[in-house]
Amino acid sequence: MTLVPQIDGERLLGRLDAFARIGETPAGGVNRQAFSVEDRSARRLLAELALARGFSVFQDGMANLFIRREGSDATLPPLLIGSHLDSQPTGGRFDGALGTLSAFEALEALEDAQAETHMPIEVVAWVNEEGSRFAPGVMGSMAFTGADTEAWKSLVGSDGACLAGELEATIAALPEAAPRPVGMPISGYIELHIEQGPSLEKEQLPIGVVTAVQGTRWLEVSIQGSAGHAGTTGLAYRRDPMVAAAAAMHALQATIMPLDTSARLTVGRIAAQPGSINAIPQSVTFTVDLRHPQPERLDAIEAEVRRVCGAEAKAQDCTVTIRRSFDMPGAAFSPAMISIVEAAVGSLHLPHKRMVSGAFHDALFIARVAPAAMIFVPCRDGLSHNEAEYVEPADAVTGARVLLQAAIAAASAH
Ligand SMILES: [Zn+2]
Repeated sequence: MTLVPQIDGERLLGRLDAFARIGETPAGGVNRQAFSVEDRSARRLLAELALARGFSVFQDGMANLFIRREGSDATLPPLLIGSHLDSQPTGGRFDGALGTLSAFEALEALEDAQAETHMPIEVVAWVNEEGSRFAPGVMGSMAFTGADTEAWKSLVGSDGACLAGELEATIAALPEAAPRPVGMPISGYIELHIEQGPSLEKEQLPIGVVTAVQGTRWLEVSIQGSAGHAGTTGLAYRRDPMVAAAAAMHALQATIMPLDTSARLTVGRIAAQPGSINAIPQSVTFTVDLRHPQPERLDAIEAEVRRVCGAEAKAQDCTVTIRRSFDMPGAAFSPAMISIVEAAVGSLHLPHKRMVSGAFHDALFIARVAPAAMIFVPCRDGLSHNEAEYVEPADAVTGARVLLQAAIAAASAH
C-alpha cells in the first residue's frame, strides 16, 4: 500500500515555534541576522533534524545549506524548495522561516509516506537574504547563480564584524554538513513565503501564485535654479527649483500609477540647498523609486520621469540632471512552474489569485538559472520586517500543503 504524503500541521507549527525561540526578542519577534550566533544555532537545529531523518546535509562555500532526499534517478539535478533562516534585527517569526520549515516538512512528509520522486529534492536555506547585517541581501542566491563574491570578503557588518571571518565561523560551526562548491545545476526552484503586503488578507485569499518579482530602479533628480531673497525677488525674476520639483512630482503622481496599476512610483527623500527658510533654493534634489514587473515598462516610466522633470524645470527656467543610482531587474517566473503551482492549488480547491511580488526574494536570482515560482500566504495587516509579523496557523499549513503538492509534481516532471 502506498501512502499519500501529507503535511503534518502540528509538526510544522511546532517547528515554527522552536525556530522562533532562536534569537527571540522580548516583543515576540526574532533577531537572527545572517552569520550570527543565532543564525548558526538555527542552521544547526535544521541540520540535526535532517540527519535524524536520514537525509544528507551539505553546505557550500557561501554557507548556503542543503538537505537532500534522493529520487529514483540520481543523475537528475535536484528540485530545490526552501527560503532563508536569517532575519531582520527586529524581524518576525515567519519571514523566511515559514518557507524553509515548510520545505523541510514537505521532505519529511515524503519520507513518512516512503514516496518516491523522480528527481532528488533538496531543501535549501539561502544565506543572508535580509542584508541587514551585511549588505547586500540575497547574497546566498546571488553567489549560487554566479555573482562575483570577491568584493564581499572585505565587508564589515553593521556591528563591526568582518564577513570573511563570520562566514568561515558559520561554516565551521556545522562540520556535519558535507562541503560543496557554490552553484550547481538544478531542475527547478519553488519558494513559499509570506506576502509581506496586505492584498491576500484584504481579499480573503489563502494563496497567491506569484508570477514575477518586479524590477526596481532608483533615480536621483537634481533641479538647479537660482538662489534668491524670498522677499525681494518678484515672480518674474524667480528661477525656483522647488516650484519645478513640486510640479514634476504632482504630474508624475497624477499619471504613472493611475494609468498603470502594476507601476509603483515613490518620492521618499527631498532636499533643498541651501535649505533656508527665507531663500529661494539654489537646487532641489529628490529621489524616485520606480517598480514594475516588465522591464520595458520600467524603461518607459523612467523616460516619462525624465521628460516631465525636464519640462517642469524648463518652465521655471531651471536645469535638471537625473542620475540612476540603482537598477535591479525583475524576473518573470517560468510559465511551466507557475502552472505546476496553480495545478497544486487547484487540486486542493483553494481560492487564489496570480500576483507579482513587491519585494525581492532569492527566487528572483534563482529564476535566472532554472524554472522558478513562488507561493504566497497572507500575513496579518500585511506586516513584515516587524516583530508583530503574524500568520494564521491554518494559512501556514495551507501554504505547506501547496508547496508539497507542487514539489511532488515538479519532481516528477521529465
Ligand atoms: Zn524573506
